[in-house]
Amino acid sequence: MPTHLAAPAAPAAPARYWLGRLSDVVLTTDDKQRRCLTVLLLASLVKAISVALLAFGAMSGMVRAHDVTMVGLLLLVTIAGFYVAIRSGWNRRCADPTLSFAQTIAAQTLIAAVYAISGPMHPAALSVFALVLVFGMFSMRVEAVRTVCLYTLVLVGSVMAWRARTDPHLYPARLEIIYFVLLATVLGMISHLSAQLMGMRQRLKTQKAALENALARIQQIATRDELTGLPNRRNMMDQLHEHALRRARGGSSFYVAMVDLDHFKEVNDTYGHAVGDDTLRAFACQAQSVLRNTDIIGRWGGEEFLLLLPETPPGEPTVGIERLRARLATLAVCPAVPELRVRFSAGFTRYREGEPVDLAIERADRALYESKAGGRNRTVVL
Ligand code: GH3
Ligand code: MG
Ligand code: MG
Repeated sequence: MPTHLAAPAAPAAPARYWLGRLSDVVLTTDDKQRRCLTVLLLASLVKAISVALLAFGAMSGMVRAHDVTMVGLLLLVTIAGFYVAIRSGWNRRCADPTLSFAQTIAAQTLIAAVYAISGPMHPAALSVFALVLVFGMFSMRVEAVRTVCLYTLVLVGSVMAWRARTDPHLYPARLEIIYFVLLATVLGMISHLSAQLMGMRQRLKTQKAALENALARIQQIATRDELTGLPNRRNMMDQLHEHALRRARGGSSFYVAMVDLDHFKEVNDTYGHAVGDDTLRAFACQAQSVLRNTDIIGRWGGEEFLLLLPETPPGEPTVGIERLRARLATLAVCPAVPELRVRFSAGFTRYREGEPVDLAIERADRALYESKAGGRNRTVVL
């Protein structure tokens, strides 16, 4: 899915706008693909500089112009091939969509060719073998880096032996042995560093997962009530503000209700605190299953709950709560005390557009007080 935002549309900065558009066309608007193509183009820049240096060598008579043209063409075809493979999205079908392994193998093969044709300039190619692997070690697995190192050493060793035999003047065997040992040491080090890098990446991954878990846990603690699992008071306040804002922007109105369990202290006093806890949990569970999916119930504190009922037509806000009352009238909420029934009083009010949510809560509280004063186990709408 494209995650990179399209270029800025502001006509105030036309140069930036067109540059943005151009980079979208060249590098696509997908973040992952952009990263792959950016690395490819960066590596191509190194290759272009190398070819320019070879061309200089050809002009100075150190390298044959025909060889440089051939290598230049080969490079161009390789870069174009990888560009098309990534730009078209074909790379997504591969196990490694960055195509790092294939790119690195191709690069080392081409540099070996450059090594073979560049005559007196050939020692300069040694650093590029290492550079290619440094590029690759950030995106390749340790085994892949080791394979490329081994491939490079076998290939370069063969080229060195071949050139030392066919052109001992420009490729003296003793010097080639020194170069080979040096290259083997550097590649060995890179292979070792890539293993360390992989270890660091693995540790970072583990730490990131642990952090995400901790963050999810903190979020749970910050927004949920521990006993019932319902949204807590802070969360309910946030949701009320959100609904009030939506209402101010033309959204539908909603009802707020305050619910308080009747004579709950007696439950604790008679059966113990644990039964009281079970009762609170059972009430929360039943309320969630009986109320509409769109209704939100949160624990306001103690044995008080707050309900937010969105898109409730005036005149029928209490249908759900009465259904809950009927369910609880016959339900044994605590298996240890089968005779125990939960009753509650409720106060409902409709949120009035533009008023602070505290006012609506206060009104719901007053309605609740009236239902308590009126004999409990009932609902009052204000
Ligand atoms: P009323 O009908 O007037 O609401 O009477 P009540 O007994 O329900 O109200 P009161 O405010 O006198 O008592 C509320 C009780 O709720 C007291 C308190 O111990 C209990 N309570 C509050 N939170 C918890 C809890 O988390 N677990 C348990 N078990 N009890 C709780
Ligand atoms: Mg109370
Ligand atoms: Mg109570």
